[in-house]
Amino acid sequence: MIQGFDPRTGQPTGLELPETDRAGVDAAVAAALEAGQAWRGTPAEERARVLEAVADDLTARAEELWPLADRETALGEVRLRGEIGRSAGQFRFFAQVIRDGGYAEAIIDHADASLTPPKPDVRRMLRPLPGVVGVFSASNFPFAFSVAGGDVASALAAGCPVVVKAHPGHPGTSELTATVIRSALPSADLLGLVHGMESGAWLARHPSVSAVGFTGSVPGGKAIQALIDERPEPIPFFGELGSVNPVVVLPSARREGLAQGFAASLTLGSGQFCTNPGLVFAPEDVVKDFAEAVSASTGTPMLSSRIRDGYTSGVERLSSLTLLATGRAGEGAWAVEPKLFTTDLDSFAAQLPAVAEECFGPSSIVVTYRDVADLPGVLARLEGSLTATVHATDPAEAAPLVEVLTRTAGRLVWNGWPTGVAVTWAMHHGGPWPSATTTFTSVGATAIARWLAPTAYQDWPAELLPQELQDSNPLGVPQRVDGVLAR
Ligand code: NAP
Repeated sequence: MIQGFDPRTGQPTGLELPETDRAGVDAAVAAALEAGQAWRGTPAEERARVLEAVADDLTARAEELWPLADRETALGEVRLRGEIGRSAGQFRFFAQVIRDGGYAEAIIDHADASLTPPKPDVRRMLRPLPGVVGVFSASNFPFAFSVAGGDVASALAAGCPVVVKAHPGHPGTSELTATVIRSALPSADLLGLVHGMESGAWLARHPSVSAVGFTGSVPGGKAIQALIDERPEPIPFFGELGSVNPVVVLPSARREGLAQGFAASLTLGSGQFCTNPGLVFAPEDVVKDFAEAVSASTGTPMLSSRIRDGYTSGVERLSSLTLLATGRAGEGAWAVEPKLFTTDLDSFAAQLPAVAEECFGPSSIVVTYRDVADLPGVLARLEGSLTATVHATDPAEAAPLVEVLTRTAGRLVWNGWPTGVAVTWAMHHGGPWPSATTTFTSVGATAIARWLAPTAYQDWPAELLPQELQDSNPLGVPQRVDGVLAR
């Protein structure tokens, strides 16, 4: 049985759900595959209206959703209401994305018989992947990266049916969210939900699953990748794993509010953000302020005993460094103390790569440096991250770091903090390994590209072409015609 737990008490919530056995996974995948036949061919405008109906239903049922999620995650009303709003917003956003039509990348090359050899008529666009998308939902966002998360919204938008492996940290919330979403879908079978580690393992290997999205730990991601590698035919695995999110405070950085901003970003959601600032390179003079800000902070309960234990051992791993500050643990069985460590650049470099491994939770390391010129060599040795942040008032001072930071992270932040990922057309939430397993994003408009594959139609009869590739362009989508972008 899967048991929900209350992070405030560490005790079971009383909600128990059976683990899904192999036959149950088979049934969910088969039902999704069947429902997907019609969904795949449903015009974009109709799919967009369904996504908007999902958003409306999530918003309308927020009063039921957030209290259940609060019992299972202790994230609190304000955060959880905000997250439901974000999830609804993601469904609305993907409705906009598919209405726009640019996501399909329609390209038309007309025939040219005058050339030697003659050029055929070729038309290419992105179409939904065949089969079912498998999604492993994350622990730390019970709505926005879970059953109502970006992976599910983008896969449904693409025209794919989905089966989600529920995160055991919020099983009841996962069930209720699935019920709410299904009520707005043309077929409830378009969204399957399975529980238990074995169900996830079989989902990743299921012959009818054609791609897997995953948000979680590096070991978890590697385990799912290994299962996928056992398949007779390979399928894409879009994993979003660990990230330390380096922050560089340059000498010209404004000091006012800097330490408070850092501590707020570090302790948000008890540091259980994949974009948590786990590493700060800073001049010596900011260290005292940072220490004071973290000492004044208070932790909140972590999401599960497993994540709390991971944080505790991660903090122990950093014991070779100087402990600079410890915040208060706060209330709750699984509450932990925020921690700030420090070391100098040479000592840090000598302990790479182990010292820069992600410690998921409210802990960070301030690495002090004397000369900006020493930073690029050390930054180049960091593993990939989702974000890299620069604090400075003089862009010229940061110029020598741009190249190395671009190689290190998928999103570069100027004078801000990396926690918080806006769902926009241009957003990229990914980066070099181990922050992500591919060059794709899991947040923003282009996240839909993970669930699409190109088809080229050569000399194909006009009446059999998708509307997006017809010369009359009845949907008014962006088309690149003979090399020129037009709508
Ligand atoms: P996790 O342990 O990686 O688990 C994520 C999912 O993968 C769960 O559904 C888990 O199923 C499944 N899983 C893991 N190993 C498996 C295996 N060998 N076979 C089948 N299924 C497997 O992640 P978590 O529980 O969220 O733990 C938190 C860790 O995730 C943190 O330490 C942090 O590093 C990372 N994290 C990263 C992000 C990010 O955005 N990058 C976000 C959240 C968390 P079961 O739980 O049922 O075993």
